[in-house]
Amino acid sequence: MKLSPALSAGGGVARSPKILDGKTLSRAVGRTVAAEAAAVTKRIGRAPGLAVILVGENPASKTYVAAKHKFAKECGLVTFDSHLPASTTKQELADVIEGYNNNELVDGILLQLPLPAPLDGSEFVRMIAPTKDADGLHPMNQGLLLQGAPAPRPCTPLGVMTMLDLALSNITLSDTTTLADLSPASLAGKKAVVIGRSQLVGKPMGFLLLERNATVTFAHSKTPDLPGVCREADVLVAAVGVPRLVKRDFVKPGAIVLDVGINRLPDGKLCGDVDYEDVAPISSAITPVPGGVGPMTVAMLISNTLQNCKRNNGITA
Ligand code: NAD
Repeated sequence: MKLSPALSAGGGVARSPKILDGKTLSRAVGRTVAAEAAAVTKRIGRAPGLAVILVGENPASKTYVAAKHKFAKECGLVTFDSHLPASTTKQELADVIEGYNNNELVDGILLQLPLPAPLDGSEFVRMIAPTKDADGLHPMNQGLLLQGAPAPRPCTPLGVMTMLDLALSNITLSDTTTLADLSPASLAGKKAVVIGRSQLVGKPMGFLLLERNATVTFAHSKTPDLPGVCREADVLVAAVGVPRLVKRDFVKPGAIVLDVGINRLPDGKLCGDVDYEDVAPISSAITPVPGGVGPMTVAMLISNTLQNCKRNNGITA
């Protein structure tokens, strides 16, 4: 197999890592979705619709929800907004979800997590119609992922895979780049290590890497010699929630490092699970935080909504 520019840098200290700019790449996803959404709108006589449900006043959740509405509208989707009080009862929330399940104008439903106590997020994610699941977190869709069958995939791991495709490509992002410029990279013969085993990120991440033929290891809080396990990786994904856990001694020179973590430091600044300054010089490609995986998660939610709309309307092209 011909080695990609990024992976072929392994074996020595990379000269200068490729910085995987999630903001710019998310705009490339947006351009792709906007063009397809316009064609779908013509064909079915309405724009794809995304419903966003927010319960309570969590400031971070409010910011994420606003970004999702904005991105969806920029791509030509119609959005529906349900902002419910923190005092919302189980029945009230169930009724809102059911309303969107039955609304023919809605193709994607996003329930912003976490929910305020005592509401349990996983209980309500299960109420979303699997064919309208925008986040790819419904148990049926997680099962379809294990089977390798078509279904909405979880947004964050999907965004990471697109960043990996960028890392393994020769393209330079520009104002005209679309997803058509990226091809799904083969990871045959490559080792991938995912730190984290959550339902939201770690587990689906590992299965998406497996779909590309990587040899995948899940590492987690009970893994002995975490640095040694991670040093095996050609592709290292950190989804932990521990600020700057991943240091230089976790990373094989020339590895691609994808940082999912978003951690707020006592001074209010954001950082990832990777010690960027320490690791970047020996990686071949790396995601910054902020501005890396985060924007891609939003973009993939909108892309999933479009794909649901196409799938549910029998549009294959
Ligand atoms: P989680 O808490 O559900 O899971 C964390 C995982 O890390 C667990 O599986 C645990 O076993 C493992 N872990 C914890 N401490 C560890 C340690 N010291 N060593 C090795 N493994 C350890 O978290 P999550 O929902 O998977 O999120 C992980 C991180 O990703 C968080 O920082 C979260 O904010 C961030 N996140 C970012 C996005 C995005 O869009 N960029 C989306 C979702 C989550």
